[in-house]
Parts: sequence; C-alpha cells; structure tokens
Amino acid sequence: MVDIYNGHTDVYGIIGNPIEHSFSPILQNTVASAMSENASYLPFRVDNDNVEAAIKGAYALGIRGLNITVPYKKTVMNYLCDIDDTAKMIGAVNTLKWTENGYVGYNTDILGFGKSCDINGIRIKDKKVMLLGAGGAANAVSILTANRDAEKIIIVNRTKEKAEKLKKLVLSTGYSGEIKVIGYSDIKNNAADILINATSVGMGKDRDNSPLDGYVDTDFLNNVSYCIDVIYIPWETKFLRYAKECGCKTVNGFDMLIFQGIASFEIWHERHIENSTAKELRDSLAKYFIEVSGGQC
Ligand code: NDP
Repeated sequence: MVDIYNGHTDVYGIIGNPIEHSFSPILQNTVASAMSENASYLPFRVDNDNVEAAIKGAYALGIRGLNITVPYKKTVMNYLCDIDDTAKMIGAVNTLKWTENGYVGYNTDILGFGKSCDINGIRIKDKKVMLLGAGGAANAVSILTANRDAEKIIIVNRTKEKAEKLKKLVLSTGYSGEIKVIGYSDIKNNAADILINATSVGMGKDRDNSPLDGYVDTDFLNNVSYCIDVIYIPWETKFLRYAKECGCKTVNGFDMLIFQGIASFEIWHERHIENSTAKELRDSLAKYFIEVSGGQC
C-alpha cells in the first residue's frame, strides 16, 4: 500500500532541459516532509517549443508551484500574470506560485546567495568583490552584492557587452559604490577581498577547468579572503581547490541551491522556516548529497 499521497496532496515541480540531474526533487520533498506538508514535487523535462503549453497546462492542472531552471528562466516571464520587483530587476524567474489570476514569478537565487553568505559568515559591506561571469547567476549575485553595499564591484566576463549590460543593471539599483568591467587578462592588476565564480566553467564539459586558468598566480589569490563558486557539482571545483591551496576560505554553490529552494518553499506555502531548522535541513541534505550521491547527483 502506498499512502504517501491522497486527494489533498498539492503538486509542485521543476521545469528545465535537461532536468534528470536536478537535486531539487530531493530537496523539496525533504523540506515538505520535514515541515509536514502534504505535497509532492516532480521533475518535468520540457522542450523549447512546449514551454508555453507546459506552463498553461500546469496552471490548468492546479500545480501549486514550479521552479524554473536552465534554459527557461527568461522565457517563462512571457507566460505569467505578474512578476515581483526583484525578479523583474534581475530579468529572470526561478519560482512560480499559482494564484487565481495565473502564475506569479519570483527569483529566489538572490535570496539563496544572500543566505549562503550569511551562514558562511561572509560580510560583503565595504568589501571589494570581483565577480567572474555576467549570465543569469551573475545577475543575482551582483545585485545582492550591490544591495549589501560592497565598496567596489569588478565584473569580469569573456563577452564584454554582457558585462557592460550587467554593470548598467547594477547601477540601476542605485548602487553608489565603484563598479567596473575588466577582461580576464586584467584580473591580476586588480585587488579583491571576495572572488566569486558565477560562470559555468568548472562543471560539465568544463569540469577540469577553472576560469582563472592562465590568468592569475598565487600572489593574487593570497590576498583574497573568500572564494565562492556557484557550482556544486563537483563539490569542489578546480577554482575552489586552487583557492584553498592559496589559503582562501572557500564556499561552493550548494548552500545557494538549498536556500533558494527553501525560499521557494516559503513563497509557495506562505510560511517561514526558522534559521535553526533551515540549517538542520541544509546539513542533512549536504550529508545525503556527499555520502549517497558522492556529490555527483
Ligand atoms: P549563463 O549561461 O547565463 O552564463 C554563463 C556564464 O559563464 C557567462 O558569463 C559566460 O560568459 C561564462 N562562460 C561560459 N563558458 C565560459 C568559458 N569557457 N570561459 C569564460 N567564461 C565562460 O549561465 P547561468 O548564469 O545560469 O549559470 C552559471 C552557473 O551557475 C552554472 O554552473 C549553474 O549551474 C550555476 N548556478 C548555480 C545556482 C545555485 O543555486 N548554486 C543557481 C543558478 C546557477 P559569456 O557571457 O562570455 O558567454
């Protein structure tokens, strides 16, 4: 007899492509169970041509909430009845909540990154932050960094136009610190207290690479206090491994993942998860992730 679900079970899910390796179903079902919610969360792989049909169909089925992942965080914005201000500013949505008028879109990546900094004791105020990347993750990270009054933000990106666009976005938040765009070859001529990798270099086909390859030596990293990676597969990227060898404190993207998920849960269920409970959930999910999946989920 399987009696976990019944006629009152609320259904949630995640849409993306690919989706098979997503950790979100384990994360969300664990959180829902710990918080005694009668809810189920499933992965849905959706092709590019079917995004609109998938969102409309999910709404018609009464799917209470969805996470949206690569490559649809921008596309889905066309099919929502409203988008909260932070998500609008970032220009990407990763959480949909069912309402009477349609789905409302939110971005919890920024909350996840902020909470990851808090829990790891990273203070951004008055610090020099160097950000590698100018894509979706970098947008959320840079706005959080600006909101927390970094003294200086240095954006490094392969494609300069994208970095300049991100700089404009940060300035549009009213950020009054210094902000500049540089190329990788200029990294060594700049100083940073906090260095963040928000590129995809270090995972997938780029697993054996670091965005810093060939651009910095130990002298540069010796002066950096924290190196943060948004990647969590592998658990320790080449970027973090080298940073650790140079004496930097390191944080991977797992906490950002967990806390963006917890923030989505809080939006869907309109309830707050206490910090102590959130931390316990984080610890047990990390244990599972490392021990059961070997960090390779
Ligand atoms: P995007 O495709 O939007 O951006 C990718 C970024 O990586 C761009 O800045 C791109 O530069 C850069 N990049 C890609 N390849 C190279 C390369 N060979 N050399 C230098 N730069 C490169 O992706 P996202 O921002 O959505 O995702 C980035 C990473 O963040 C992914 O690994 C993703 O898994 C992770 N992520 C983690 C989250 C978490 O919760 N921990 C949440 C969201 C994302 P260019 O502009 O020049 O192409």
